[in-house]
Amino acid sequence: MSSNQPLRLVPGMKVRLHEFDPNQKFDWDKDTAVSELGEWQARLEELQELLYADGSQALLVVLQAMDAGGKDGTIEKVFDGVNPLGVTVTSFKAPTPEELAHDFLWRIHKAAPPKGFIGIFNRSHYEDVLVVRVNNLVPPEVWKKRYDQINQFEKILADNGTRLLKFFLHISKDEQKERLQARLDDPTKHWKFSIGDLPVREQWDAYMKAYEDVLTKCNTEYAPWHIIPANRKWVRNLAVIRTIVETLQGMGLKYPPAEPGLDQVVIPD
Ligand code: AMP
Ligand code: MG
Repeated sequence: MSSNQPLRLVPGMKVRLHEFDPNQKFDWDKDTAVSELGEWQARLEELQELLYADGSQALLVVLQAMDAGGKDGTIEKVFDGVNPLGVTVTSFKAPTPEELAHDFLWRIHKAAPPKGFIGIFNRSHYEDVLVVRVNNLVPPEVWKKRYDQINQFEKILADNGTRLLKFFLHISKDEQKERLQARLDDPTKHWKFSIGDLPVREQWDAYMKAYEDVLTKCNTEYAPWHIIPANRKWVRNLAVIRTIVETLQGMGLKYPPAEPGLDQVVIPD
């Protein structure tokens, strides 16, 4: 398979989402991708253990998408098989009164993964320049400052041993309609359907504009964004898992040296 480099946005580039095809499948083939997923999962499982054993760095995976964009499904498929002891998952909802009484990064920083761990953010601090911006939850002079504040915050994490990978799961408006309809049609999926998601769908264009700003202004060397074509779940899963595996492989992780004298040890009867 070819390199997944095009998924990673080049810092400084101005992102226009209509130039990214949510149906893109590169030169990948579905049957091969589905059968290879298990191998990628096994690699991720090993690398997660190495990250833990090494103990000097963390990995933070940020997932953002429109409703029904596949955040939950990505977590389920990509991290299937990874030891839950080494992973933290945080889903960010509308802030509580306590969270609102602090700066917007307070709850985020607390959830950042400790060294040795993979942390997954299901939604994130980016909501504070997405839903907050689109719905005018704070004045423009407040949210406009947040792009720089986010870059500075992510730099602190990066400078202190956390690798950041940010994924925007890019689906089309039509695909969202199909997925929402599928949830309506299946009584076992009704719990996933919120009537409140419908006004958000009507704000689609405003969200795309807000996402374009996020992907343009907060795309740095130390915390790059990836646009994942996500209409096809198999493409999405492969693109995300490969990026995570290749990143972990590039982190220079090492098993710690054995205690001196270990080669002399005889386990007593
Ligand atoms: P879900 O991901 O379906 O569980 O929904 C979580 C909801 O929380 C979404 O409607 C988000 O827009 C909302 N949310 C997450 N973070 C924030 C935030 N910082 N401010 C306002 N709403 C938020
Ligand atoms: Mg929802």
